[in-house]
This record gives sequence, structure tokens and C-alpha cells, in this order.
Amino acid sequence: MTAIPWPGLYAVLGNPVAQSRSPFIHEAFARQTGQTIRYERILCPLEGFAVALQRAADAGLHGCNVTVPFKFEALAAATRRSERAALAGAANLLRREADGWYADNSDGVGLRRDIEQGAGFPIQGRRVLLIGAGGAGAGVLGPLLEARPVELVLTNRSVERAQALLARHKALAQAQGVTVAAEALDDPGLAFDLVINASASSLHGAEVPVPAKVLRPGALAVDLMYGPPAAPFLAWAEAAGAQGRDGLGMLVEQAAESFLLWRGVRPQTAPVLQTLRRQLQDLDR
Ligand code: NDP
Repeated sequence: MTAIPWPGLYAVLGNPVAQSRSPFIHEAFARQTGQTIRYERILCPLEGFAVALQRAADAGLHGCNVTVPFKFEALAAATRRSERAALAGAANLLRREADGWYADNSDGVGLRRDIEQGAGFPIQGRRVLLIGAGGAGAGVLGPLLEARPVELVLTNRSVERAQALLARHKALAQAQGVTVAAEALDDPGLAFDLVINASASSLHGAEVPVPAKVLRPGALAVDLMYGPPAAPFLAWAEAAGAQGRDGLGMLVEQAAESFLLWRGVRPQTAPVLQTLRRQLQDLDR
């Protein structure tokens, strides 16, 4: 284990990144746990992730979160990977070590914690539809299978990408006794208990990419997006008699897991989530 840097320089790397709440969250975690860190946003050119990461490392970066669309490149930049990041083929967090970057993926554990503990919705035995096979979809698939739904359908704009991701998770699905399939966006199946939008549709202001018949009445429908861009998805879910949930809880939970990896202490998530919700509501007014 590398010595914990004090104070530490951290950042979120992505494109876009201006909307990211990660600086607020990690600074709140640091205050809560009596630590001192600095956390910045770094906008990387679409073709320039590796260069931006190296530049940040030269400036003293100790660790970073990685967001759209660089989670695959983040894994490739690492010299060591956690098992869950290797299975996902994507990383949302990096920690600097003596001989390079250690890559991990906390998206799935964060999502699962938000659904099972935050929303009080056990996944075991449910039928789940996962939309999106990009970096986020790849990160959450393994932990969702570990929660042992009875069935998981993966749908993506490019079905081939969904098929490839599922193929990588075949052994895990079998071991957990989960029936899996990859389907097209326009007809992925009917009446799921849990629908998770891990695609970037809301981020890009596009329509919900699946028909409302995927929701059974009373289903839980989670969009990984949060704030105003998530509003159309939440309205879509509620119009179909489902319970909509945005990605803010997951954001805070995956951040807590990052903080633990970097700083060796797990912060409390509930007070930070509460403050963030209040901030977003104030912005809405
Ligand atoms: P990527 O760029 O890696 O992947 C984008 C995914 O969205 C691909 O599956 C892509 O399909 C799909 N997609 C893009 N546009 C559309 C559209 N108009 N309709 C349908 N599908 C579309 O991004 P990430 O996977 O990293 O992120 C996805 C979303 O999840 C982002 O909004 C991100 O902010 C959010 N997120 C939230 C987190 C949280 O903590 N709340 C954590 C992680 C992500 P194709 O493969 O066919 O191109």
C-alpha cells in the first residue's frame, strides 16, 4: 500500500466535465474525515486523455476519477488493475503508485448500494433491463450480476457492443444463476422490475432510448444522469407508473469508494447526498 499523500491533489478528468459535482463531494468528504485535499476538474480534449493525465501527474496528481468518455482509456493507462476494473474493461478511478497508475472501478458498487440501500430495492430475484454498454454500463454489469437478479437484459445502440460486453461476463452470469441476453433498443422486452439507463442519452438531451412498455407498474427506473438533464427520463418513468430515481445517490456512493481507496477511510454518504439534493433543488427554483 502506498503512503497516503497529505495534502493530496485529486481531479476528475472527462469531456464534458464542467457539470461534475465531484469536487464538492470529495471536499465535503475531506472536511468530514479531517483530511486536507484539493480536487479539480480537468477537461481533456477528446483525443488527448493520455497526454492530459501525464500533464496532471507531472503537476503532482495523486489520484483521479475518470468520466465520459475516457473510462476505457483510463484502464489502458494503468500498470495495475483491480479484478472488477479488469472484468469491466473500464476504470472510473486511478490511484498513483510508485511504478504507475492503479485502476479500479467503483461505479457498480456505487449503483448497487444506491439501489439496494438508498432506494431500499433488493435486486435479487428481479428482472433487470440495463441500457448502455459504454464505460458506465461496463462498470455496473458485474456488480449487478453479483446481486443475483433472475434475468438481466442488456441493450445498447450498437447491439454488437452489448453482445461483446455480455460475452465477457458469461462465466459470472452462469455462476450467479442469472439468465442474460443482449437485445435491440426498440424491443428489449416487457415489464421489467428494474430499468437502469446507463447510456449517455440524458447527457446528450436525447429521448429515452427504449419504449415505456419496458416498465412494469411500480418498477424502479434509474437514470445515471442527475440534475435537469435527468428530468425527462424521470417524467417518462413516472408517466408509466414507475418510480424514477436519478444518479445522484450513485455518484456519491461511487465517490465514497474512491475516497476510501485514495485516503484509507470511508466517509459517510448520507449528509453529502442531502446537501447536494438541496443544492440541485435551489438551482431548479
Ligand atoms: P460512454 O461515452 O462511455 O458511453 C456512452 C453510452 O451511451 C454508449 O453505450 C452509447 O451507445 C450510448 N449512447 C450515447 N448517446 C445515446 C443516445 N442518444 N441514445 C442511446 N444511447 C446513447 O459514457 P459512459 O458510459 O461513461 O456514461 C454514460 C452516462 O452515465 C453519462 O451520462 C454519465 O454522466 C453517466 N454516469 C453517471 C455516473 C453516476 O455516478 N451517476 C457514473 C458513471 C456514468 P453506443 O455504444 O452505441 O455508442
